[in-house]
Amino acid sequence: MLRYECTGTDGKARRGRLLTARGEVHTPAFMPVGTAGTVKGVTPAQLVSAGAQMVLANTYHLMLRPGAETVERLGGLHALMAWPGPVLTDSGGYQVFSLAHMRKLDDTGVTFQSHVDGSQVTLTPARAVEIQRRLGADVMMQLDECPPGRADKDHVAAAVRRSIRWARLCRDAWEAPFGPAAARHSRQGRPQALFGIQQGGTHRDLRAESAAALVELDLPGYAVGGLSVGEGHDAMCSVLDAVDEQLPADRPRYLMGVGEPRDILAAVRRGIDMFDCVLPTRNGRNAQAFTWQGRLRLRNAQWAADPRPIDEACDCYTCRHYARGTLRHLFLAREMLGPTLVTIHNLHFFASLMAAIRAAIEAGTLDEDARRWAERLCPDQGPRA
Ligand SMILES: [Zn+2]
Repeated sequence: MLRYECTGTDGKARRGRLLTARGEVHTPAFMPVGTAGTVKGVTPAQLVSAGAQMVLANTYHLMLRPGAETVERLGGLHALMAWPGPVLTDSGGYQVFSLAHMRKLDDTGVTFQSHVDGSQVTLTPARAVEIQRRLGADVMMQLDECPPGRADKDHVAAAVRRSIRWARLCRDAWEAPFGPAAARHSRQGRPQALFGIQQGGTHRDLRAESAAALVELDLPGYAVGGLSVGEGHDAMCSVLDAVDEQLPADRPRYLMGVGEPRDILAAVRRGIDMFDCVLPTRNGRNAQAFTWQGRLRLRNAQWAADPRPIDEACDCYTCRHYARGTLRHLFLAREMLGPTLVTIHNLHFFASLMAAIRAAIEAGTLDEDARRWAERLCPDQGPRA
């Protein structure tokens, strides 16, 4: 079963370990995103050497293609991905609300049109759990309603209450599964944890109501959802200011979909342990490299004959072997190695950022370090972290 151990604090920031049946994850941790069962452009061996400890896969994409039953027949998500480490799957809810053409939403679930073949698909709390049980992730997420960032307060309040009801139904399905599965286990017979998701937009009262109801369910972990939807850095920070008192100290806290380095620094300082985001992989495919001095756009002409690596201080595979000029050439020539190499560097950068954060918490210097790093990482966004 999944367990969280906090091994030290610095203010509200927590240094800890997530103990899973597939190994331990040092926290705070960043999870690269493997949307369709693959972290785009990199092999599991490259992921490991880039420092990834745990990855995320998207239930929405996998349930539509190749389908949860097919993934199960292939031996589950770990076999499909050839990734032996821990995996977290989201419930599919966020993608249904943000990507799909939604047909119907009520208390029983949500019906939408598949972007793959146009068929009607219904996702209920019990179905979301059943699909994730077939996929076999180590951590599954409850189905929640994700209102758009611009939703008014009544809409957000209704989504909070519906998400609380769905959390209870997901918990029931997880503890007393229908069919041959064992309680709290995947269809592959491995232990599987369920995390609840706090909603509530930027409304403090709704966030508190959401957290209190979820904590009553005594789940193995809790996520903060519905942020990074256009509310801005300061509004995100004020929601996170309350997280440390709202969520129990002995469970992991996961901030969903947040990955801007400056947001990660601010969130860790407010007590968050886990992150996921497509930024390192998506930006890597677009020739944008993250460094401690800000971002490099590798297509720019200024790098054409530059023999330096992306970052002279980085010891990733890409920086040990390739010049900026070579990477620019690979992108302009549309060679598939270009996106792979910059993705490797970006994943390594995010893993190094998290390792530096963990070391700073241990040293008790996070506040000072985070301010300094945020200034260097995002010189145009001001020092606040
Ligand atoms: Zn590098």
